[in-house]
Amino acid sequence: MRDGLKVLGLTGGIGSGKSTVARLISELGVPVLDADQLAREVVEPALAEVAAAWPQAIGPDGKVHRKRLADIVFADPAQRLRLEAIMHPRIQALANERLDALAAKGHPLAFYEASLLVESGRYKDFDGLVVVTAAPETQLERLLARGDLSQGEAQARIDAQLPLLAKVRVATHLVDNDADLDATKTQVERLVASLR
Ligand code: ADP
Repeated sequence: MRDGLKVLGLTGGIGSGKSTVARLISELGVPVLDADQLAREVVEPALAEVAAAWPQAIGPDGKVHRKRLADIVFADPAQRLRLEAIMHPRIQALANERLDALAAKGHPLAFYEASLLVESGRYKDFDGLVVVTAAPETQLERLLARGDLSQGEAQARIDAQLPLLAKVRVATHLVDNDADLDATKTQVERLVASLR
């Protein structure tokens, strides 16, 4: 809690519907910071370090080739930790800046959406943790429907994360997104009303 601003973590398994829930929350006028978006903003300043660690992930235009970098770090936990160590302090600083600005504007509630909040232990830094759930088959199906991953790649990304149950165990709030969007929307409205 900072200056009256309550900040909840928002996470779930990949493909479970975090971004969808984030969108539904922001449609209710509650700000959601997206860790992926913050990462995109800090990747340029971190470019020299990323290029030194993974020259093969730098495209001909001199920019980070995000898919190539993701493929490398998803295949090897040690590489993932290395990328985290480069990116995390920068993301954290930017997140704090944004949250301070929201608090200064008088917002009572905000969310911080990130896929690895439980894996990293950072979920403890928030005033609560919302975990979005969906059955493993639903996760895989939704990931494949995006069309940019093979079945093996999609499964590898699911397997690289903690099982959803481990996240559910530390959640303070759950949103079940296995059914249709209307059902999810109802839960999100209740959740936000209870937190406001
Ligand atoms: P995450 O951010 O957890 O990886 P997304 O919110 O991007 O997941 O959802 C994954 C895919 O599933 C997206 O294409 C999204 O539009 C779709 N999706 C999410 N929730 C539902 C739902 N309740 N019903 C049908 N499709 C959904």
